[in-house]
Amino acid sequence: MRIVALAGGIGGARFLRGLRHTAPEADITVIGNTGDDISLFGLRICPDLDTVMYTLGGGINEEQGWGRADETFTLREELAAYEVGPAWFTLGDRDFATHIVRTQMLDAGYPLSAVTEALCDRWRPGVRLLPMTDDRVETHVVIEDDEGKRAIHFQEWWVRLHAGTPARSIAAVGADDAKPAPGVLEAIEAADLVILPPSNPVVSIGTILAVPGIRAAVAAKTVVGVSPIIGGAPVRGMADACLTAIGVETSARAVAAHYGPDLLDGWLVDTADGGTADDLDGIAMRTRPLLMTDLEATADIAHAALDLAEELRA
Ligand code: GDP
Ligand code: CA
Repeated sequence: MRIVALAGGIGGARFLRGLRHTAPEADITVIGNTGDDISLFGLRICPDLDTVMYTLGGGINEEQGWGRADETFTLREELAAYEVGPAWFTLGDRDFATHIVRTQMLDAGYPLSAVTEALCDRWRPGVRLLPMTDDRVETHVVIEDDEGKRAIHFQEWWVRLHAGTPARSIAAVGADDAKPAPGVLEAIEAADLVILPPSNPVVSIGTILAVPGIRAAVAAKTVVGVSPIIGGAPVRGMADACLTAIGVETSARAVAAHYGPDLLDGWLVDTADGGTADDLDGIAMRTRPLLMTDLEATADIAHAALDLAEELRA
C-alpha cells in the first residue's frame, strides 16, 4: 500500500508515528510544511520537517512535542550574553547542530529536499520525508496593534505573541511561484490514498495545499482527514486563531467544509463532536475518539483512517 500524508509539526508527527505502527508494510511518503521555516542566527530552521524527523526518528522531546530530547542550552546562553537575539525562539544545542548541517548544505547549493534526505540518513524516520517545495515559502501574518498595521513572520506571531494579537490575514508568501519539490507530485500520483493528519488546517495543511499543483493532485485521490479540532477547540496550540483569521468556525465540521468535498472524501471527528457527524455533502463522516494519548490510541486512529479510505475506494 502506498500512502501519502501531508504534515505540519506536532499533530502531524504524532499521527504519523501511529500510522507507521499500524501499517508497518506500507510505503509512506510524508509531504512536510515548510511555511514555518525561518532564518535565525544565520541558520535555516525548518521546524515542521524537524519535528517529523525527530519524532519518527526517536529524538524528540516527548513532553514538549518539539525540539530534541536531553537538550542543553549553552549556545543560547552564550548568544544571550552577546545580546544576540531573538530570545523568544528557543533552540537547544543538539537542535543547533541540525540547523548548521542544513545551512551548510543549502549554502553549498543543495536543494532543501536533498538536505532533508541527508538529515534523514541519520534519523531513519521509516517514511520518505519530502519538503512541499524547495522554493522559499514563508507564512506571514498581518496584525494591527499599538505599533500600527504590519506583517510579521508566522513564528513571531505564534511563538512570541502566542497568537494573542488577532491576525487580520495570513499569507503564504512565495507560494504562488513555488514548485512542488522533486518527487512530491509523483508520490501523490502513485499513492493509493492520501491522509490529512490532525495538523493545523490553515498554516500546516493549508500552506502545503497552496503550492501550485499539490491541491489538484491530492484531490484526484481518495483523501481521508483526521480532525485537529475536538469539542470545538484545538487539542493544543492556537489553531482557532488561524481559523478565525480566515473566517472559518473552530469546529470539526467547519474544517471539513473548509477543505471541501472536491478535496476530502472522508473525515474522522471525535466522539465529543458526534452530534455534528452526519455526512457533509460529498464527505463521509465517522465518529471515534481522536485523542492521541499514546502510541496504541494513535495507531487505532490511523487504522480507522485507513479503513475509511478503503471503504471509500471500494
Ligand atoms: P504544529 O506545526 O506543531 O502546530 O503541528 P500540526 O500543524 O501538525 O498540528 C497542530 C494541531 O494538532 C493542532 O491544531 C491540534 O489541535 C492538533 N492535535 C494535537 N494533539 C492532538 C490529538 O491528540 N488529537 C487530535 N485529533 N488533534 C491533535
Ligand atoms: Ca508548524
